[in-house]
Amino acid sequence: MQVYGLVGNPVGHSLSPPMHEAAYEELGVDARYVTFEPEPSALADAISGADALGIAGLNVTIPFKQDVLELVDPDPLAERIGAVNTVVFDDGAEDSTPKEDSTPKGYNTDAAGVTRAFERHGVELDGGDAVVVGAGGAGRAAAFALADAGASVHIANRTAEKAEELAGVVPGATGGGLDSLDRIRDASVLVNATSVGMEAPDETPVPAEYLHGDLAVLDAVYTPIETRLLREAADAGAVTIDGAWMLLLQGVEAFELWTGLDAPVEVMNDALRDHLTA
Ligand code: NAP
Repeated sequence: MQVYGLVGNPVGHSLSPPMHEAAYEELGVDARYVTFEPEPSALADAISGADALGIAGLNVTIPFKQDVLELVDPDPLAERIGAVNTVVFDDGAEDSTPKEDSTPKGYNTDAAGVTRAFERHGVELDGGDAVVVGAGGAGRAAAFALADAGASVHIANRTAEKAEELAGVVPGATGGGLDSLDRIRDASVLVNATSVGMEAPDETPVPAEYLHGDLAVLDAVYTPIETRLLREAADAGAVTIDGAWMLLLQGVEAFELWTGLDAPVEVMNDALRDHLTA
C-alpha cells in the first residue's frame, strides 16, 4: 500500500483526503491519504521521517509551503514561485522501497490549478490581459502561471510594494496597489488570490463597477463556494470559476505526479463538492 498525505498546521478541515481517496477507489489504487500536523519547528524531521517511512508523496500547505523549498529538489517553476505544495519521494514508482541519495522532488501544483481551471472553462489565456489581486502564496502561483500561459499580468495588492516586487520577477508583469484595480475594466482574466471573502460572504476585494461581460473570474477562495465577487461577476455577465476548481485541479496535478495515472477528474470533483457542501 502507498501512503500519501498532507503536511500543514492546521489541517483539520482539509478536503484533500476525500478527494484523493475517491480517486484511489475509482482506479483501484492501493493507497491511503492522511493528514499530518507537525509543529512548525519540526518540518525538516517530518520530511526526512516521511522519506524514511516510505511515504510516496505529500502535499504541503500553510505554514510550510515556503520552508519546504529548502528540504527538497524543487522543479524550476516551484523555485520561481518560491513555494512547494507537492513533494514526490519516489517519482510515483510502485516500488515503495526507500532509495539512497534520493532527494525528494518539489512541485507547485497551485499554478497548474489556476491554468487548468481557466482551460476547463474554455478561457484562452494566451494573449489575454490578466489582473491578479493578491501577492501572497496563491497570488505568486497565479501570476507565474498566467504569464507562462502567455497572458500579460498586472498584480494589485493591498501592500503595493509586494506586488511591485513580484512583478519584477514575473515575465512582463506590472504591479501596484489596490488603486490599480481599475485595470480590470480592460482585462480578460481576473484572479482573486486574497483571502477577502473567506468566511465573510459580504466582503469582496473588487468594486463591482470594474466587472464586465468580457471577463473570466477565478476566485481562489472556496469557503463560501459562491463569494460576493463571483455573484457580482455573474451579474456583470462574466464567466465565473469558483475556488473549488483550483483546489480540485491542483490535486489532480499532484495525483498525476505521484501515480503517473490520468486522474479521474469527475470523481474527484464530485467527492470534493460533496464535502464542501456537507
Ligand atoms: P497569503 O500568502 O497569506 O496572502 C494573503 C493575500 O491576501 C495577500 O496578498 C494579502 O495582502 C491579501 N489580503 C489579506 N487581507 C486583505 C484585505 N483585508 N484586503 C486586501 N487584501 C488582503 O495567503 P494565500 O496562501 O495566498 O491564500 C490566499 C487565499 O487563496 C486564501 O483564501 C486561500 O484559502 C486561497 N487559496 C486557495 C487555493 C485553492 O486551491 N483554491 C490555493 C491556495 C490558496 P497583503 O500582502 O497586503 O497582506
